[in-house]
Amino acid sequence: MTDSTKHQGQRRQLVKLLEEKGIQNKEVLTAVGTVPRHWFMDTGLEAYSYVDKAYPIAADQTISQPYTVAFQTQLLELQKGDKVLEIGTGSGYQTAVLLALEGLKVYTVERQQQLFKKTALLFKKLGLQPKKVIFGDGYQGLPDQAPFDAIIVTAGATEVPKALLEQLTIGGRLVIPVGEKDQIMTRYIRTGEKSFDRKTFGNFRFDPLLKDKN
Ligand code: SAH
Repeated sequence: MTDSTKHQGQRRQLVKLLEEKGIQNKEVLTAVGTVPRHWFMDTGLEAYSYVDKAYPIAADQTISQPYTVAFQTQLLELQKGDKVLEIGTGSGYQTAVLLALEGLKVYTVERQQQLFKKTALLFKKLGLQPKKVIFGDGYQGLPDQAPFDAIIVTAGATEVPKALLEQLTIGGRLVIPVGEKDQIMTRYIRTGEKSFDRKTFGNFRFDPLLKDKN
């Protein structure tokens, strides 16, 4: 896999655009500037890798828009050493951005077998090392690895899975788009054993979070 100066230049432009659109977190901007998104795009769509849009990938799913990836990552308020769970591995692009932040322990779950296999293989090829890449239903979270300092859901949920709230550390953050046709970006911060702060951050559009494996 190559990363040409042309791609690097396009990436710098993309980072500039994200800054203009309001992404402020320097580490997040650097991470987006580091990850070659064209490695995660479907063949044939490579030319669009640095356009700030979502594109189709295998199994009728999409690679998230860079702005959305940056926005969600920023909302996670990550610190070195944090244990992070991603629901919806998809293309692996968001996972790669998390890994580029360095010092995080990243777990990622995908329910669609074809995508899971394809992306797990890609991670190997690229030498990317999440702690675990799991084929499973993210609705359940990952009870045997819990608790997590941060959980990011990259598919639209009609309801907030209880398991995910329960698998947060005290102080832990869950960033999840909630809604049917479009979704309201929502962040829960666990403030105590049974208490959560909830805040919303505008509208987005995601593929649906589905129950069970496929
Ligand atoms: N983070 C991805 C976004 C992919 S789109 C990227 O950067 O490309 C959302 C993904 O969530 C799809 O791959 C879909 O199969 C997956 N998904 C949907 N419901 C799920 C569930 N219950 N558990 C795990 N993954 C799920």
